[in-house]
Amino acid sequence: MSIELPETQILAEQMTRTFLEKKVKSVKLYDYKKLQKVGFINRRIKDFDKLIDCKIKSLDYRGGVIHVKFNKKMNLVLCGNYGAKYRYFETEEGIPKKIHFKLGFTDGSYFVIRQSGMGLIYAAEDNEVSNLYVYKRDFSDTPAPVGEHDFTFERFSELLDTKKQNIKAALVGKTAVVVGLSNAAFQEIIYKAGIHPKRNTSTLIESERNNVYDSMKEILNERICSGGKNKFEDLFGEFGRHTPVMGPNMKDKTCPQCGATIEKIAHSGGQVYFCPRCQV
Ligand SMILES: [Zn+2]
Repeated sequence: MSIELPETQILAEQMTRTFLEKKVKSVKLYDYKKLQKVGFINRRIKDFDKLIDCKIKSLDYRGGVIHVKFNKKMNLVLCGNYGAKYRYFETEEGIPKKIHFKLGFTDGSYFVIRQSGMGLIYAAEDNEVSNLYVYKRDFSDTPAPVGEHDFTFERFSELLDTKKQNIKAALVGKTAVVVGLSNAAFQEIIYKAGIHPKRNTSTLIESERNNVYDSMKEILNERICSGGKNKFEDLFGEFGRHTPVMGPNMKDKTCPQCGATIEKIAHSGGQVYFCPRCQV
């Protein structure tokens, strides 16, 4: 399950409440070769040993990235855009076998990560943090779609004008005008806005841009308030309560608004479900 902005916020807030002042006793990585090959885990696994005896001092997040700050100039940078599960355990009991990362604290509790797709687990010294690609991408000037009062509709519209591109490219990935969204949020937002997934942003009239902006805020805020998407498990193993209005869960179903059969297309490296009648 991809960790997008709402789930990142939920996890980061829970981690802040749970982890501050905890001291690291042990760090262990498992089954990490694939992630390491693409640069998502330190090339030198020994780098993680630098976290031992460090205390968690603060925690920050933006978009889909969580930045855990320790004393002794150490940091842990995490990104689960392509699928990850972050869990806390008070004791070793109940920790699943299939994991990639296990941080043990001196009080006997654990922080565990299981990546289900590619994602970053990186131990970095203070001067290395800002060189990490996902950190640069999300801790950037690109606005976050919710939680920032200066991200107005006018600003959004202006940003859409700077790049004339497909609506998916405008909301997800490298060229996006906002941080923190993946394919899952994209499908929900444009369904709610009544926009076809293949539209180019240069063809969007004012009212359509407004619909995208409002839908984005509504969907994301709703997800934050309901503890995340229904397949998302939080730090304590609680499932979210938000059922996506569009996505794989709508496969072979009909549109609740118009009754048309939901269709699926391959689009920019992902499957996109949409209503052929409501989304034009
Ligand atoms: Zn419809």
